[in-house]
Amino acid sequence: MNSLRFTAIKNIAKNAITYEVKSSEKVTSIFNENVFTLKTARHYLSDDAYKSLLASTLGGKKIDRAMGSNIANGLKAWAEEKGVTHFTHWFQPLTGLSAEKHDSFFTLKGDGTPIQEFEGAALIQQEPDASSFPSGGLRATFEARGYTAWDPSSPAFVMETAEGKTLCIPTIFVSYTGESLDTKTPLLKACVALDKAAVDVCQYFDKNVSKVNATLGWEQEYFVVDAGLATARPDLVLTGRTVFGHAPAKGQQLDDHYFGAIPERVYAFMRDFERESYKLGIPLRTRHNEVAPAQFECAPIYEEMNLAVDHNTLLMDIMTRVAKRHNLLVLLHEKPFAGINGSGKHNNWSMSTDTGVNLLAPGKTPKTNLMFLAFFVNTIKAVHDYAELIRASIASAGNDHRLGANEAPPAIISIFIGKYLTNVLNQVEKRVGGNFDETDEAMLKLDIHKSIPELMLDNTDRNRTSPFAFTGNKFEFRAVGSSANCAGPMTVLNTVMAETLKQFKIEVDTLIDKGEKKEVAIMQTIQKYIVESKKVLFEGDGYSDEWEKEAAKRGLPNVKSTPISLDAYSSAKAKKLFEDNHIYTHLELEARHEIMLEAYIKKVQIEARVMGDLASTFIIPAALKYQNNLIDNIKGLKEIGLAASSYANQKAILEKISEHVNAISNNVSAMIEARKNTNEITETRSKAIAYCENIKEKYFDTIRIHADKLELIVDDNLWPLPKYRELLFLR
Ligand code: ADP
Ligand code: MG
Repeated sequence: MNSLRFTAIKNIAKNAITYEVKSSEKVTSIFNENVFTLKTARHYLSDDAYKSLLASTLGGKKIDRAMGSNIANGLKAWAEEKGVTHFTHWFQPLTGLSAEKHDSFFTLKGDGTPIQEFEGAALIQQEPDASSFPSGGLRATFEARGYTAWDPSSPAFVMETAEGKTLCIPTIFVSYTGESLDTKTPLLKACVALDKAAVDVCQYFDKNVSKVNATLGWEQEYFVVDAGLATARPDLVLTGRTVFGHAPAKGQQLDDHYFGAIPERVYAFMRDFERESYKLGIPLRTRHNEVAPAQFECAPIYEEMNLAVDHNTLLMDIMTRVAKRHNLLVLLHEKPFAGINGSGKHNNWSMSTDTGVNLLAPGKTPKTNLMFLAFFVNTIKAVHDYAELIRASIASAGNDHRLGANEAPPAIISIFIGKYLTNVLNQVEKRVGGNFDETDEAMLKLDIHKSIPELMLDNTDRNRTSPFAFTGNKFEFRAVGSSANCAGPMTVLNTVMAETLKQFKIEVDTLIDKGEKKEVAIMQTIQKYIVESKKVLFEGDGYSDEWEKEAAKRGLPNVKSTPISLDAYSSAKAKKLFEDNHIYTHLELEARHEIMLEAYIKKVQIEARVMGDLASTFIIPAALKYQNNLIDNIKGLKEIGLAASSYANQKAILEKISEHVNAISNNVSAMIEARKNTNEITETRSKAIAYCENIKEKYFDTIRIHADKLELIVDDNLWPLPKYRELLFLR
């Protein structure tokens, strides 16, 4: 056979020749090599320019235009020494990817003299044509201007690609009228809101705290497949997932991949992308196999949130590019293979003060214990009060395949805190009437610190079925999808936490004004919050049916599909929350909602088309060819005079094939018809719901079942699409 599938299989050995990766160098010798860190800046900038950059990086101070030019000159000098010829504002529009528009340093003076130049204005602000990025109707097309503006809190870096080297300036992206069109702008605002609210609460415990940073450590899961095989799968190429494919005889039931050695070819790829990441200052720390065959994970040391998010976006880009050198394809999709575990991106989240305290780490003294308890319980309350919004923040067409699919956290948002802390909260709650006394040793001491060993023990076999789990000194938001930009969920989490802390402070202050002692007021408010939000706590098996029933009884929301879960973004509650905390105006929020619905519609629409095309032009023709072979065979047997019983099996197979072919054919036609009707719908939300219910839910599985059955019947030599066993096990 000379189908693409067999050519690809034949070429695997050739493709697998491992790309030369330097492996002898120390990470420390290349780490940050291509980043304009403050240390590097010190060498290239004047005292004044350096001070100005420092103040803006650490203190959020504005940089004026004149100083901007100084900094630009230093940046250009540094970049040119590295052979950089172009620069770009690097930003993250609402496509979920990163975007760049390269400009050359090269320009002509008025008299035609060629020079290399990088002006302060070009560093601080650019005006890319915004009309081709999603805006949710914020910009009429005649007003296509949008601005990118430098974000000095994330350092500039040099991106090396095959074609050359580019100086990248991390920026925000806003419309001409100031509305945010990216993921970074609201994230930065949410970090500011959380900073302010958290510092205010920290003041009860430590007057020296003047800044609180949200911290994020993500864990990125991904699949790796041979690029040649992937090319023979138009569904992988166009949608990032396989819309057809029967489970292989061997799947993940042996659990041998998780503990196994990393395959040689993938290992070379990992070392290569890690090297590129180190040069860009991404502090990758761990790499390992995941549960499913061909699935892997990497994770860095956690960082200040804005930087961590940029680094994850960069990493996804680097992985995708570096994979090509190894003839591999990286799949960041949440569910590339049916019946095989999907991929997530755990977001480990905490807050840390400028005095060096992790606010979610149990303290060593009664006072710091109380501070820990305050932030811990406020987080629980925040997640409880805004569960719908948190669910919405992780919604996407891809993640819908994962959430609640009995392998990933369910769509019900609940929190796991472990035995020990459950016990602590129970003790606090039992003080009915809030009978706290400053001298109440047992209560105020809450010997959490001494019990840390126990706490850790509790966490080692921690609950993997929980979407939001406390893991000793941070919360792990596990329901985030692998392809997501972390900024979405992190913006929501920071905002709901900021709002909850603000309310907490108001309540505590009210009690203090009434004459309560500070510690007592804090304790009483904590107790009240435990009572109000404990129904979100769940220690059991989040995958079980019982939990679904129990959660319904508790009144916890359980929204399974993206279009409906996104309603949480347009509720009056959300509008008030985001406006009060200066994250989104009503207009911006409505625009985001619209963009997310549109993204969903497009994804499902493309998948439906790919499914129809593949069914009609790959699968049915292969089935018919095999049918013809069988017909020839039967004819031959008849001709030589054999009895009907000798070809009864062939006839039965023929009939089976016809059954499946007809079912596929009829359903594909009906799906096309349904799409036509759905496309008539003008209101975006209704259209998205129709795409979900009348197309995806109604036809995808049905068509797939018949196609996958055919895969088991049709002659392997005639099957055009690389099979799961090849995609997952050949490398
Ligand atoms: P795992 O969840 O696989 O057991 P770890 O618990 O060691 O792995 O850490 C997972 C991630 O949590 C890492 O990326 C780590 O940097 C991050 N992390 C650790 N402490 C914090 C923190 N205070 N804030 C945010 N992330 C953190
Ligand atoms: Mg983890």
